[in-house]
Amino acid sequence: MASDTGGMDVTVVGGGVIGLTSAIALAEDGHRVRVVSRDAADRTTSAVAGGLCWPYRIRPFERAVRWSVRSFEVLAALAERPQETGARMVTGTMTRAAGDGPDDGRALDGAGDELAAWYAAVPGLRRATAAELPEGDASGWRARTPLVDMPAHLRYLERRLTAAGGTVERHGVASLTEAGRSADVVVNCSGLGARELVPDPDVHPVQGQLVVVENPGIEEWLVSADAGAAETTYVLPQPYGVVLGGTARENAWSREPDPAVAEAIVARCARRFPELAGARVLAHKVGLRPARPAVRLAVEPLPDGTPCVHNYGHGGAGVTVSWGCADEVLRHVRALRDL
Ligand SMILES: Cc1cc2nc3c(=O)[nH]c(=O)nc-3n(C[C@H](O)[C@H](O)[C@H](O)COP(=O)(O)OP(=O)(O)OC[C@H]3O[C@@H](n4cnc5c(N)ncnc54)[C@H](O)[C@@H]3O)c2cc1C
Repeated sequence: MASDTGGMDVTVVGGGVIGLTSAIALAEDGHRVRVVSRDAADRTTSAVAGGLCWPYRIRPFERAVRWSVRSFEVLAALAERPQETGARMVTGTMTRAAGDGPDDGRALDGAGDELAAWYAAVPGLRRATAAELPEGDASGWRARTPLVDMPAHLRYLERRLTAAGGTVERHGVASLTEAGRSADVVVNCSGLGARELVPDPDVHPVQGQLVVVENPGIEEWLVSADAGAAETTYVLPQPYGVVLGGTARENAWSREPDPAVAEAIVARCARRFPELAGARVLAHKVGLRPARPAVRLAVEPLPDGTPCVHNYGHGGAGVTVSWGCADEVLRHVRALRDL
C-alpha cells in the first residue's frame, strides 16, 4: 500500500527492456518495485535486438517519435559509459533503395513523413551524399545515434534496478490479477506474453532473424529498410561481432534459425560490404517482435479493481522507445498515487 513516503508497491510483469526500464523509473522515484519475469533477461526478445535507436515498425508514429527522442537523450548519456551500460554512440546511414515504394524521396526529405519530427530532433542528422551511399541505394540519412549491446545493457539495467532497491523474480504468472495480489499497481510489460495474459489477440509476432559474424573492420552502421518489407539489410557493428539482418515475417512463431534465410542475409549484406562475404559466423539469432497495430500504454483496472498500467506491443522499436515509455509509466503511477 502507498506508504507515508508516497511510494507504492508495484509489480512489473516482464523483465525485457520495457519492463526493466519501467521498473527503474519507478524504483528511482521511491516506489517499491518487484519485477516478475518468466524468462531470464538473456532469453528475452530484447536480448536478440540489434540495438539501434531508430523508430521502426512501431505505431502510433507521433507518440513513438516522442518516446524515441526521450530515449535518445537517455541512451546518449549512458553512452558516455559504454563498458558499464552497453550503449555507444555510432555513426551510420539509413538508406532507401531506388524506387522503393511510393513515398521514396518524399520520406527522405522529411516533409510529409511520419518520422519528420524524429529527423528534426536527432542532433546533426543530415542527408547522405551520393558518395556516402552504398550502390543500389537512392537516398539516405546520416546520423550519430545510440547503438546498444543488448545483452550487456540488460545486465546493466538489472544491476541499476537492484541498486535502486528493486527485485527480480524468475517465474511465470498465469494472470495479471495473480501478479498484482499484494501490489497497489501492476505494470504489464509482458511483450508477446500479453496475447494470453491480457488477453489481447491484437498482439502478434513479427519474426526476425539475424546472423552475427566476426567484424572484418566495419565501424559504422548501415540500415536499408523499407517500412513494409519482409526483408531489410542491416549491418550493426557491436562489441561481440557485426549483427547482420534481417527479416520481418508477420505471424511466424518459430525461434529456429533457417539456414537458407541466414545465407540470404549474409549475401544481401555482402553486396553492401564485400568484406562480409567470408566473415566467420559467430551466431544465429531469431526473435519475435511483440507487434500490435498500436503500442498499448494506458491504465485499466484489473477484474479485482487493482489498477494496471499496460506497456506492451513495441514491435520493432522497443529499445528505441524504452525510456520514453518508462517516463510515461511513471507519470501514470504518480497520478494513481495522487488520486
Ligand atoms: C531481430 C530483431 C531485431 C531487433 N532490433 C531492434 C533494434 O535495433 N532497435 C529496437 O529498438 N528494437 C529492435 N527490436 C525490437 C525489440 O527487440 C522489441 O521491441 C523489444 O525487445 C520488446 O521488449 P519487451 O520488453 O516488450 O519484450 P520482451 O523482451 O519479449 O520481454 C517480455 C518479458 O515478459 C515476460 N513474460 C511474458 N509473459 C509472461 C508471463 N506470463 N509471466 C511472467 N513473465 C512473462 C518475458 O519472460 C520477458 O521477460 C528487434 C527485434 C528483433 C526480433
